[in-house]
Amino acid sequence: MDIKKQLLSLTPYQPGKPMDEVKRELGLDKIVKLASNENPFGCSTNVKEAIMDQLGKAATYPDGYARQLRETLAAHLSVAEEELIFGNGSDEVIQIICRALLHSGKNTVMATPTFPQYKHNAVIEGAEVREVVIKDGHHQLEEMLKQIDENTAIVWLCSPNNPTGTYINEESLLTFIQRVPKSCLIVVDEAYKEYVTAEDYPETLNLLKEYQNLLVTRTFSKAYGLASFRIGYGVANKELIRQLEPAREPFNTNSLAQVAATAGIQDQSFIKDCVEKNKQGLEQFYSFCREMRLAYYPSEGNFILIDFEADSDVLFHYLLTKGYIVRSGNALGYPGCLRITIGTEEQNREIISHLKEYKMKQAI
Ligand SMILES: *Cc1c(COP(=O)(O)O)cnc(C)c1O
Repeated sequence: MDIKKQLLSLTPYQPGKPMDEVKRELGLDKIVKLASNENPFGCSTNVKEAIMDQLGKAATYPDGYARQLRETLAAHLSVAEEELIFGNGSDEVIQIICRALLHSGKNTVMATPTFPQYKHNAVIEGAEVREVVIKDGHHQLEEMLKQIDENTAIVWLCSPNNPTGTYINEESLLTFIQRVPKSCLIVVDEAYKEYVTAEDYPETLNLLKEYQNLLVTRTFSKAYGLASFRIGYGVANKELIRQLEPAREPFNTNSLAQVAATAGIQDQSFIKDCVEKNKQGLEQFYSFCREMRLAYYPSEGNFILIDFEADSDVLFHYLLTKGYIVRSGNALGYPGCLRITIGTEEQNREIISHLKEYKMKQAI
């Protein structure tokens, strides 16, 4: 068989061990996962009712157009219904974009370290990947512009960036967008947009009218707490969405995901509450970092990257034995660091006390 040779250079996504298995192996009575930036407060109570209603309709295909969700989301975002494309997670929106625009002979520009799916999909499509190293947590936009040429099909911006939590402010974004050639699609991944409180964070959707080569991706997996349903979306001008649509599977988002997301949008007080608690949770970690003199990036997401100046994998395993799963910086391009999802007040307090204990032991 002749598998595309670029696939041979890729490794499949490595899922963590199932939580029940870890619990059994380590003899823990509880385990807290702060590894994938899921919402520690779950999702809106509206969602449960909506999906129970939907369960009776399991035998029918979902609405391939996601009409109800589309109407609800369009109204919520003040965009036209035709300006939306839905995906089985925003991961799939990224895949659709790559499938539609990339092939060998094209290149794509992105930061590193950043969300790995841009590169992963670009490699599968056979495109050349041009990565520009992040400095002090920030996209080097000038450097990224220099990497763009007439064969650049997509430039990716992740803001807030995963895994640093840092963001691109309005002025920098605008200056950048103005200088990218019209032939190059600019994708701004705003997976953590709902959590952002920085005043100079841009309203990127407002730029879509003026810039036909701009697309914003977002998700219901993070603040909305619906990661298991797999639903995310892209927003761009109608013409671009129309051109992308054939690359989308007809029934890519399932009925439960559609009703769950719709119910989620209708409960903005849940989101507001989570954002407030997240901000307080971030403060818990900031004061811990200051007290322990640990370097970190101020985060606009629901996670924080902290430099423990330790072997990340060893620290990861230490926390695991205490019942906490986090992400080791070794897997994220930040050796010595951990990326920790902001949990509930109690979870934050507990993991912080384990981390303190570890640092104390290390100091002796
Ligand atoms: C989590 C995440 C996504 C993907 O989320 P989906 O669950 O596929 O919607 C996309 N981009 C970034 C930066 C993320 O952190």
